[in-house]
Formats: sequence, C-alpha cells, structure tokens
Amino acid sequence: MANVQKLETSVIIIGAGPAGAGTSFFLSKYSIPHIVIDKEIFPRDKVCGDACSGKTALVINRVNPEWLGEILAQPDNYLPSWGIKFVAPNGKALDIPFSPKRTPETKAPGFTVPRLAFDDFLFNKMASPHCTIMQGALVKSINNTADEVCVEVTHHATEYEITAPVIIGADGDKSIVRKKYLSDNAAPKTYAVGLRAYYEGITGLHTENFIELHFLPEMLPGYLWIFPLPNGMTNVGVGILSETIRKRKINLREQMLYAIKNNPQIAPRFANAKLIDKIQGWGLPLAIERQPLSGDSFMLTGDAGCLIDPFSGEGIGNALYSGMLAAAAIKEAVGQNNFSAAFLKVAYDDVLYKRLGNEFKVSAALQRLCKYPWLFNFVVNKAYRSQSLRETISCMFTDMDLREQLSKPSFYLKILFNK
Ligand SMILES: Cc1cc2nc3c(=O)[nH]c(=O)nc-3n(C[C@H](O)[C@H](O)[C@H](O)COP(=O)(O)OP(=O)(O)OC[C@H]3O[C@@H](n4cnc5c(N)ncnc54)[C@H](O)[C@@H]3O)c2cc1C
Repeated sequence: MANVQKLETSVIIIGAGPAGAGTSFFLSKYSIPHIVIDKEIFPRDKVCGDACSGKTALVINRVNPEWLGEILAQPDNYLPSWGIKFVAPNGKALDIPFSPKRTPETKAPGFTVPRLAFDDFLFNKMASPHCTIMQGALVKSINNTADEVCVEVTHHATEYEITAPVIIGADGDKSIVRKKYLSDNAAPKTYAVGLRAYYEGITGLHTENFIELHFLPEMLPGYLWIFPLPNGMTNVGVGILSETIRKRKINLREQMLYAIKNNPQIAPRFANAKLIDKIQGWGLPLAIERQPLSGDSFMLTGDAGCLIDPFSGEGIGNALYSGMLAAAAIKEAVGQNNFSAAFLKVAYDDVLYKRLGNEFKVSAALQRLCKYPWLFNFVVNKAYRSQSLRETISCMFTDMDLREQLSKPSFYLKILFNK
C-alpha cells in the first residue's frame, strides 16, 4: 500500500458527461475544489439522438454567455434547429416552429450536434484551477466512513485514495454510484431503450432543420426520429419503452430497418441514403416517478438520477440542469458543513422536483396519451386545418403552463368543438 497516493477534496464527481460537466462548471464558479473521474478518454461517443433543446442552451448561457456564440460559430459540428415535425400514426405531418414570432435577431432555440463533439466541448470547458480531471480512470471501490466518502481509483498505473465529504453520481444509465447507495432502487423503475444510426444522403429534410418525430403505430408510445446534423449527416433512431418491447417481443433493430425500407412516408427518402457506422443501442432511464436523488454524502445527477423526459426522451438539458442544481446544493452544504441525507434532500431533491417535477408529470401524461393513435391522429388532423391550434401547440414548447393543457381532457374537448 506504500505507493497509494492520498488526495483530499471537497467533491468527487464520477462521470464527465453533461451531468458531471454541469456540476463541475458551477462548483468552479463557487470556487469549490473537486475531482472529476471518467472511465473513458475524451473525445468519446455516447449513443444519443444528438438534439439539444432550450434547456441545454439556458444552462450553458448561465455558465458563460460567450459559449453559445462559440458553439454556433462551428457550423461543421453544430446545426441550428428551428422547429419540430410531428408525423401522426396516420402519416399526416405537422410542422411546429419553435419560435413562431421570431425576428431576425432571434437565436435558434435548439441545435443538433454529434455527442462526440458536444461532450468534448463540455469536457474541455471544465478546465479550471478548482477542477482536477482523471480520464481513462478505473473506479475500484467506493466506501464510506462516518462523515467521508473514499474512492479507490487507478489512473495512469497509479493507485489513488480520494476522500471528500460528498460524491456525485454523474455516471449515466448504469451508474455505479446509484447501485452503491440505492440498493433497493438500483434499477430505474421506468426504462426505455433506444437505437441510433448515422446516415448520409437522406432527402426531404426541412430547410430550417426541423427535427422529425414519426409516431409509427407499431412503436407507440415510442417513436422513430430523423434529426438533421451538419455536413449532410442525419441521426436516425427509435426509442420505445422496455415494457412494450417485452410485451410485444419486438426486435427493435429489425423494426427500425423495416420502417426505413417500407414505410411509405419514410422509405423514399432513404432511397440513396448510406448507413455510416454501426447501429448502436443504449438505455433511457425516464423521470416518470419521483425517485430519491440523494442521501448521506451522495447525490445523483442526469441519467444516474433517472432524469430523462418521459415524452421527448430529452436528457442532455436535464443532465446539465441537475448538475447546476447539485452544485448550488453543495455550496449550501459546504457553508453549513452538513452533508446529511435530510439536508441534501431539501437542498437538492426538493428544489429539483419543484423546478422540473411538473414538466415530468406533463410529459408522463403525454406519453400515456400516445398509446392512443386515434387521439394523436385527431389532434394532428385538426391542427393541420387550424392555424390558431398550430400556434398554440407551437407556444407549448416554450410555455409549460400551456403545455400542461395537452395532458388534460378539456384540451381535446375544446378542439373537438372549435374549428
Ligand atoms: C438512443 C438515445 C437517444 C437519445 N436522444 C437524446 C436527444 O436527442 N436529446 C437529448 O437531450 N437526450 C437524448 N438522450 C438522452 C441523453 O443521451 C442522456 O440523457 C444524457 O447523455 C445524460 O447525460 P449524463 O451526463 O447523465 O450521462 P452520460 O452522458 O451517459 O455520461 C456519463 C459519463 O460517466 C462515465 N462513466 C460511466 N460509468 C463510469 C464509471 N464506472 N466510472 C467512471 N466513469 C463512468 C461515462 O464514461 C460517461 O462519460 C438519448 C438517449 C438515448 C439512449
């Protein structure tokens, strides 16, 4: 044991994806020293749809307003997106701009970017006098003493024992921190599975790079997506509840390729398209039920805390956002030297669910409604004919109160009786 290096810090973060980076950015702002440990070496890939929403932009802007400018100045990596195309189970498409009342100064509310590039951008931005990064590192164990966490790590053939009063699980879907501390709750209760494929040469994409969600009857309440990327590339994938896969014995890969080859709306657009790279799958732990996000000396952020939007599958923004809130809670905990479960619950879990809980509830309700294709067809048919309904749906992307309407029966009754 003589050559074990001992390090002490204020916070240990496992995982340097959006959740870990988000936590680190704000800890650095508060001058709180921390060590970030990731098993991969960056740049590294992450299976994803590669679509970033306004929440991602919001957090990045809060860290440093110049960063979004830097992002949008790299057209080879980032593609601004101005809206979303919904395709109902009956094949009818509805284009919904994100900013219906935009001016020439309006910035695109969302963008797409291969995660290989985006996560590397975030990774490099963590550099700060308060942050020590160990990438390509192996976490061997996580142990607790009375008031400290001790993590054994191998990095560059050196053994480390790192101690801190708190550890952050930002280590994604298969989080070891979650497994260690939430043994009764190690597996997320609600889970979806997704496949991602990169194609080039797909035709019929929107001129303003709208992202496309195709609610195919055989995949409900999941969907197939087509997201344009820079340089003529496209991210194509499917996301579906694990429960649905099990019940209907679906082979996801076969189903996706079948739709690409045979669906009358989709297949012609792939006539000259080429699959680049292999098709890869990954899990999506969804935020359907409130779950614990902290306890004595630990907190969970991003996918480790099961914070993916149950309707849209968006998790990058929530990972960054939860990291921001976790850092704010740590600032309070450091101030009061209190890392107890009771303190962290109030400072982190309660704050996060107060801010995002309603959004999760609405999305979970929308996901349940998607099980009914006739309802989906009905709304899209109506919106197809009604400019004001299209505008209402459009505003729902930025206005949560308005979006809540979508989960209420009265919304559907209203559009049934109004033209
Ligand atoms: C198919 C699919 C499509 C998706 N599409 C979208 C989309 O279009 N838009 C969107 O917003 N979200 C999307 N998501 C969700 C999104 O990818 C995740 O929510 C997001 O990556 C969560 O970020 P994170 O930092 O919590 O976890 P990750 O991004 O998974 O980062 C975790 C980090 O922890 C590291 N790590 C893991 N285990 C260990 C360990 N034992 N020791 C050390 N380090 C470890 C990993 O190397 C990784 O760097 C999609 C997900 C899937 C599966």
